Amino acid sequence: METLIKGIPELFGKSIGITKNDEVHVYVDVRDGEKLPCPECGELCKRAGYENKERVWRHGDCVFFPCYVHCRRPRVNCGKHGTKVAEAPWARKSSRFTLMFEGYAMLILSDMPISKAAKLLRCNEKALTKILRHWVSKAVAESDLSNVTSIAMDETSFKKGQSYVTAVIDAAERKVIDVEEGRKAQTVIDFSLMLEAKRGDCTKIEYASSDMSSAYKSGIDFCFPNAKHIIDKFHVKKELLDAMDEVRKAEQRELKAKKNAVSRKLLMIPQARQTEAQSLKIAELSKQFPKTGRAYRMVQAVDILYASRTMDEAEINFKKLHQWLKKSRLDPMKRAGDTLKKYKNEILNYFRSHLTNAICEGINSMIQAAKRKARGYHTFEGFSSMIYLVAGKLKLACLNPLR
Ligand SMILES: [Zn+2]
Repeated sequence: METLIKGIPELFGKSIGITKNDEVHVYVDVRDGEKLPCPECGELCKRAGYENKERVWRHGDCVFFPCYVHCRRPRVNCGKHGTKVAEAPWARKSSRFTLMFEGYAMLILSDMPISKAAKLLRCNEKALTKILRHWVSKAVAESDLSNVTSIAMDETSFKKGQSYVTAVIDAAERKVIDVEEGRKAQTVIDFSLMLEAKRGDCTKIEYASSDMSSAYKSGIDFCFPNAKHIIDKFHVKKELLDAMDEVRKAEQRELKAKKNAVSRKLLMIPQARQTEAQSLKIAELSKQFPKTGRAYRMVQAVDILYASRTMDEAEINFKKLHQWLKKSRLDPMKRAGDTLKKYKNEILNYFRSHLTNAICEGINSMIQAAKRKARGYHTFEGFSSMIYLVAGKLKLACLNPLR
């Protein structure tokens, strides 16, 4: 029986048929009499007839037609477990797909949205999500977190912002090690329990980075007593960008300008990456919309803070930025200044070591990329499995049909 999955081409001569529906069907016979392993204990057992009904598995396409493998599996008589149906070596227990198909589906899923994958594989999304969840949770369950010392956590929304998940990253290995439902202090506690269950040690966590939420702060303080809590550039900038956007909207209303007279997208482009035309346009808009222009310049000042080379320099630049925000006469910017002040220590922790810069850099873009690919999954399990698949550097045990 073991040879059968690789031997499917051999069987073509014997039992291939293309039906009216453009499908390929492969019928597999099992040699009579040969002993087969018990599905429970693996002991080679005597045969005891066949299962009542033939079973069908979906296999990878043949000559561009969906291919199905048919077999009536033999039963075995085990001394310990009684009469059992022998498992087909080309599929895992209770799956309606062959291992080869599942391996191919995993390759496709890691590369495209689920709706597209379902179309290409001619298979429904629910079945694909089930395959994804099986192989991902198997790999995640087997992971060893004993070497984790730096973590970064980030919230991410799904189901159009109705639900939130927290992704936790091993910052040194740059991979997602946990995805938890929610974004509360309890979420951090759930992660810490999982860490300890996988041979990790909460007291060994030296750095923990997150955004400016008090839930994460209290969770980190509670679970990781030796960790320096870092709030990185991405989150500081985001706080100010959100405040600037409030200023922009209010000023557009105030001046009775069109809704998107100042393009939000344009203002989001980092100064270093602007084309000449873009920076000219921003300068021109800043004159027409002076409040937005001022808020824009405050956002740019974050880069000055992060160019600081020493702790002293960072402290001075932080103070300057904070004072500017406080005296801005723009309420959203003033509020952002208050938030920054509240997290001053965590923001300055970034400058304590060059190591932390390397850790924080790029982590958020990694999460964003994973999140983009996870779009289209409607359940927490599907969404989190996709995040693991894209950003978890998993050792998947499924077959790779292209190897
Ligand atoms: Zn047995």
